[in-house]
Amino acid sequence: MNSKKTITKEMLAADLSALGLRSGDWVAVHSSLRSIGWVEGGPPGVIEALRSVVGPSGGIMMPLFVKPGGIRIDLALTPTYLGLLPETFRKYPGVVRSAHPTHSVGILGPGGREIAEAHRHAGYLNPGSPYDQLARLGGKVLHIGCNWNSSSILHLAEVLAEVPYVHVAYPEWSRGVSGRHTDGSIISDVPRYVPGDSAGFYLIQEEMERRGMLRAGKVGEADSVLALAARMLEVGTELLRADPGRFLCHAADCVVCPVGRGIINKLERSRGEKA
Ligand SMILES: [Zn+2]
Repeated sequence: MNSKKTITKEMLAADLSALGLRSGDWVAVHSSLRSIGWVEGGPPGVIEALRSVVGPSGGIMMPLFVKPGGIRIDLALTPTYLGLLPETFRKYPGVVRSAHPTHSVGILGPGGREIAEAHRHAGYLNPGSPYDQLARLGGKVLHIGCNWNSSSILHLAEVLAEVPYVHVAYPEWSRGVSGRHTDGSIISDVPRYVPGDSAGFYLIQEEMERRGMLRAGKVGEADSVLALAARMLEVGTELLRADPGRFLCHAADCVVCPVGRGIINKLERSRGEKA
C-alpha cells in the first residue's frame, strides 16, 4: 500500500488559515508530528508553514520541557523529551528558550526575549510564564493530532482556580529543580505551584466544543483544534472552581491524583464539621 501523499508547506499553511490562524497571531503549538503525514521539508517545513501564516508580527511557542531525573540540566544543550517538532524548534534559528529549568518554552517572535526572561521568577506554568503572556497577547493554542491532555496552559488554570492540590509534585520535582540557563546563569524553582496530572484536561476541550468556543479541522492529515488561550483559562478555571477534583485521574499507578483527592476530601470533611 502506498498512501504517502506529500504535504507541502503551502498546503499546511492553507489548512492553518482555514482553521482560523491569522497574520499577527501568537500561537502555542502542541503536536503529534507523525499524525500530520508526509511533510515536504520534514519538521522544519511545519515550522516554516506556521511562520508563513503568523508572519513577522506574530509569534510561535512550543514547550521544551525536560525531566529532572538525575541529569544536569543545561538549557543550551539539554533536549526536550516532547518529540521531534519541539526539539527541531529548540534548535531553529531565532528561537529563545525561556528561563525555567524543567518547564522552558521555545519562543519565536517579536519581544520573545522579554517573554522568555520573565519566566525566571514566575515559576513553572504560573502567572507571568510564557503561556500566561500568550493569553495576555490574545494568543491561540493549536493542537495538531493530539488532545488537550497535552495542553500545558491548562495547568495555569489550576493555579488561577487555587485548587488545593497545586503544590503536590511528582517525586522527581518534589525537592525543587535547578539548571543552567542559556546565558550561563543558574535557574531554580520549588514545588509551590507545580503542574500535576493532565489526564482530565480533555474535559475542558469537550466543554468548549459544546459551547462552540473552538475551531476544528485538518492540518495535513491530523485532526486539529484551535482555541483562544484566554478562553481556555476562563473555562478551565470555571470548571475547577465548581469541582476542584474534576481533572484528577483514577489510574491505579498515578502518584499525584490520589494525593490531590485526599486533600480535597479532607477539606470537604472539615467544612462539613464546621457547618
Ligand atoms: Zn493522575
